[in-house]
Amino acid sequence: MKKRFHFLILFFFIYNTIIVILAKKNSMSTLLYICIALYFVIALLYWLTYRFINKKKSNQLASSTNLFEKKKSELDKPEISFKDVAGLEEIKEELFDIIDYINDRDKYKKMGAKVPKGILLYGPPGTGKTLMAKAVAGESNSSFIYSSGSEFVEKYVGVGAKRIRTLFERARKEAPCIIFIDEVDALGSKRNSESNNEKDQTLNQFLVELDGFKDSNTVIVIGATNRLDLLDEAMLRPGRFDRKIYVGNPNYISRVKILKVHTKDKPLEKNVNVTEIAKKTHGFSGAQLANIANEAALRAIKLNTKKITQDNFNFAIEKVAAGLEVKNPNISDKEKKIVAFHESGHAVAAKILNIDKIQKISIIPRDQALGYVLKFPDEDRYIYTKQELLNRICVLLSGRAAEEIFFNEISTGASNDLKEATNIAYELICKYGMGSNMENFYINEVTFKYYARSIKNEASKIINLSYKNSLHLIRTNIDLTTTIANHLIENECIDSIKLDKIFSEYLLEPVPN
Ligand code: ATP
Repeated sequence: MKKRFHFLILFFFIYNTIIVILAKKNSMSTLLYICIALYFVIALLYWLTYRFINKKKSNQLASSTNLFEKKKSELDKPEISFKDVAGLEEIKEELFDIIDYINDRDKYKKMGAKVPKGILLYGPPGTGKTLMAKAVAGESNSSFIYSSGSEFVEKYVGVGAKRIRTLFERARKEAPCIIFIDEVDALGSKRNSESNNEKDQTLNQFLVELDGFKDSNTVIVIGATNRLDLLDEAMLRPGRFDRKIYVGNPNYISRVKILKVHTKDKPLEKNVNVTEIAKKTHGFSGAQLANIANEAALRAIKLNTKKITQDNFNFAIEKVAAGLEVKNPNISDKEKKIVAFHESGHAVAAKILNIDKIQKISIIPRDQALGYVLKFPDEDRYIYTKQELLNRICVLLSGRAAEEIFFNEISTGASNDLKEATNIAYELICKYGMGSNMENFYINEVTFKYYARSIKNEASKIINLSYKNSLHLIRTNIDLTTTIANHLIENECIDSIKLDKIFSEYLLEPVPN
C-alpha cells in the first residue's frame, strides 16, 4: 500500500513537471499557474495520506501493547500449588530450584550459582504444562503473565517485537514474575530463507530480552510447546531455554492421582473405584481425565442421582475415548451386519493375539465410527517387540478379513484400520529397523528418498503377510466370530464379562506365525 502510494505521488509530480515545462515553452501562463497550484495540492495530499497510514499503524501498536499493560491488581497471582498438580514428581523436583531461587536469592548469590532464565516444557497436549507453570508461580508467590506465541505473530513489521518488549518490561516491574508463553513454537520456529522480516524481528527481540536478564532479576520465562522439533536452535542455546523438560501422558500411578484430584470435591458412590478407572484410561492425558470426571458428574445430574456412580464413569470414558453417541442412526440391516462381523473380527484377533484388554465391543455409532472395540493395555507399556507390532497390524486388518470371509467382498469401513496398520508398518521399517531386508536401519525424512522403493516393498510384504494371517485366524475361528457378530446384531454391545464367557465356550485354534 505504502509503495503504491509513493509511486502514485512520484508519477503526478513528474507529469506535472512535464506540463510546467511545456506551458513555459509555449508561454501558456494560465496553465503554468494551475500546475504550480497542483504542486501544493500534491504535497497536501501526500501529507494527509501519510498521516493516515501512520495513525493506523500506531493504533495497531497501541492495541497490541494493551495486552500486557494491565494494572498490578489485575495481574494474576495464581493460588495453584504443587498439590493441585498430581503426579509429575520428577518435574516438580526439577522446578523446585526456580521456586527456591525466587524465595531465597541470597543463598544462590553466596554460592555463585545461577538458575535457568528460561524453562521449556514440551510434550503432548493436555498433560499439565500450563498448570505446572501456574503452580511454580503459586509456590513462589510470583505474578503470572500468560501469553501465547500466536499473540506475537503479526503482519506489520515491528509490532511483534514491540509486544515482546512490553511483555518483558511489564514482567520486570512485577518481579518476581513468571512469564508463561504457550505455543512458543509460533513465536520461535526455525528461521529459514523464506522467513519474513516481522517474524525474525520478533524472535530476535525475544532472544535479546532473554539475554538481557540480569541475575538480580527474578523474572523466569516458562515456554510450552507440543513441537520441540520446530523450535529455532537459537532459542534452545544454553543461557536461554536452559532446561527442557518433557511432560508426557501420565502412567497408571499418576492417572490414579490425577483422578483423585479431580474427584475430591465430587460426591462419589461407594462403588466408584478410581484404580479401575485409571486402568481403563491408558494413554489418556491429564486434561482427558479431568474431562472424564466432569462428564461423569454431568451424567449423574442428567440421571438425577445424588452421587456419581461407576457406571457414570464408564459412560464418560466411552464418550471421551470413542466420541459422541449418534442417536437414531440411519443404518440399513445389511450395513449393521457388516459392521457386526467387522468388529467381531477385530475382537477375535485381539483376544487370541493378546493385544490389550477388551472392555467393550459396540455397533452403536459414535462420531464417524459405525462400530468400535474399546480396549486398553493391562499395564503401561513403553517398548514393544517386533512380533507384538506385527500382531497389532494383524488385529487391525482382521475387521476387513472378516468382511471378506463372510460377505465375499470388502467395504470402505476399514479405512482407519488401514491407515493405522500402514503407519505401524512404516514405523517398524523406518523407525525401529525391523524390516526383514532392512534390519537395523534408521530412516528419516532426508534419507527416505534413497530407500523409497525398498521401504515400499518391505511395507507391502508386511501388510500382505499380516492380512493372510488375519484371514487364517478368522477362518480357523469362524464359529466364534459368527457367535460374537450375531450377539452384536441382537444386543448392539458386548462387555468384557460376556465376551470372556463366549470365548470360554469355544476351543481356540493355535495362533498363526
Ligand atoms: P496444551 O499443550 O494443550 O496447552 P497443557 O499441557 O498446557 O496443554 P494444561 O492446560 O495444563 O495442559 O491442562 C489442562 C487441564 O488438565 C488442567 O487444567 C487440569 O484440569 C488437567 N490436568 C492436566 N494434568 C494434570 C495433572 N498432572 N494434575 C491435575 N490436573 C491435570
